Amino acid sequence: MNTRLSAISGEYVDTALEAAFRSARFVETVRQCRLYFLTSAIVNTLFFASDWRFYGEPHFWVAIPSRAFVVVVSLVCLCLMEFVKTPTVAQRVLIGYGVCVALAVGLLVTSHSQIALFAVIVLPAIYYLALPNCFAVTWSMGIACSIILLLGYIFPHPDPGMTMGLILAMVTMNAALTLIVSRGNRLRRLEWLATQSALHANTQLDSSRKLLEKVFMAVPIPLIVTERDTGRLLNANRAAVTYFGGLQNVREQGDIRAVYANPAQRDELLRVIDEHGHIENFEVTVALPDGSTRDMLLAGSRVELDGKDCVITGGVDISARKAMEARLEELATRDPLTGVLNRTAFFDRAKGEMDRARRMGLPLSVIMIDLDYFKLINDAYGHAAGDMALRAFADLCTKHLRTHDFVGRLGGEEFACVLTNSDRQGAALIAERLRLAAEDLAIESAPASLRLTVSIGVSDIDLGDESVSPALARADLALYGAKMRGRNKVVLADQREDDFSPAPPRMRAIASARS
Ligand code: GH3
Ligand code: MG
Ligand code: MG
Repeated sequence: MNTRLSAISGEYVDTALEAAFRSARFVETVRQCRLYFLTSAIVNTLFFASDWRFYGEPHFWVAIPSRAFVVVVSLVCLCLMEFVKTPTVAQRVLIGYGVCVALAVGLLVTSHSQIALFAVIVLPAIYYLALPNCFAVTWSMGIACSIILLLGYIFPHPDPGMTMGLILAMVTMNAALTLIVSRGNRLRRLEWLATQSALHANTQLDSSRKLLEKVFMAVPIPLIVTERDTGRLLNANRAAVTYFGGLQNVREQGDIRAVYANPAQRDELLRVIDEHGHIENFEVTVALPDGSTRDMLLAGSRVELDGKDCVITGGVDISARKAMEARLEELATRDPLTGVLNRTAFFDRAKGEMDRARRMGLPLSVIMIDLDYFKLINDAYGHAAGDMALRAFADLCTKHLRTHDFVGRLGGEEFACVLTNSDRQGAALIAERLRLAAEDLAIESAPASLRLTVSIGVSDIDLGDESVSPALARADLALYGAKMRGRNKVVLADQREDDFSPAPPRMRAIASARS
């Protein structure tokens, strides 16, 4: 849009914009025309009445018809304004009025009455300043009116001295009025443009706001706006209201903390937002009105709304993802048959435990357990019963171990346990308890005659080692020793003659199965 203004007229160079300006001011133009025509009719009626005092003088015969004509023209124009619907037609009425009145007053001033000179000066000024025409018409009518009045005033009784002075005065007046009109045009248009821009900006802002509100409401992700300090709920979209079961508890308590399973998480969220201005991937647990809890991943930022410090947060439900992650973690770290740690997870966990033991300066031991004659158990009772025995033994280990101890299935019927805060003597005691417990283990859903014995090797874990492997190797060697000595024994690594568990190998299960 070209908003340049003409240096001479002060009007828009762009004709379309100028037309828009005129249309925008049309109602005002009509109002001004009506007021002007009415004023003109009244004033000239007063002049008409006043001019009766010249009755009998030559001026009377000029003044009365002129005044009457102007009054009639004013009234006709006033009536015509009722039918004017466009700026162009309004301008035509003004031109008609201007021409008629200029001719009438031109005739009037021929009388050289006391106020004739006054009329010669005032009427062009009125054409310039009071008639709401476009610049070209205003200027043309001003000049034409000046010439008509000048001719009317000068010609009946030419006075060369007076004529020159009057012409110069008229030229000066026309020039000054042209400048005034031009400046007035300019200022009005600048003001209009500023108003239009402000209106346009407001409209844009309003439509943006409405669009944003619609998007905010329609987004399928729960979005919530709260007051930062109080946690007061300011706005929530449909998805949020649905997800949080109506948000009634928040409205009642007046604080968004009502949706947090742990309200301290909201304070932590604010702390991070304060630090970075926004937050992403912030995990929280929310409590729903039905008593269930869900995991959510929040993103949010600080915003100022109506001068208030606010926080807008959006979240996605990650409960299914978290459950899947937990399941995958379970699958990745657990032995599917027994539920104890699998080989990889056992080694990882052992490494972590070694770090901890190093930090704490505490001893750490490992025991390796192998079920005795398990092949025979399988053969005698079936593979399914063997599985049950493996599960039962794994449960037994879990039950016997202390909080920080852990057991893993390293393969087949081999298990290993890391025993925290235990040297190998302490570990040997625990191993012995396990061995004895295994002897008495009754396996659910398996034939009562199925009994287990285990052989166990025990070793310290050297905390200087990188991993648990060297200690496991030593424990394995000791386990081999236990097997060699007849099974159902606990043997310490590097142990020579002092057999820790002198009990003879028990073959009850196999014996009874065979019988
Ligand atoms: P030893 O006292 O010398 O350890 O004798 P063993 O029979 O226990 O040893 P061996 O290594 O010969 O046999 C281990 C058996 O464990 C062989 C295999 O069929 C069985 N086994 C390994 N994994 C499973 C399993 O997941 N389920 C069942 N039921 N049996 C298993
Ligand atoms: Mg084995
Ligand atoms: Mg075995």
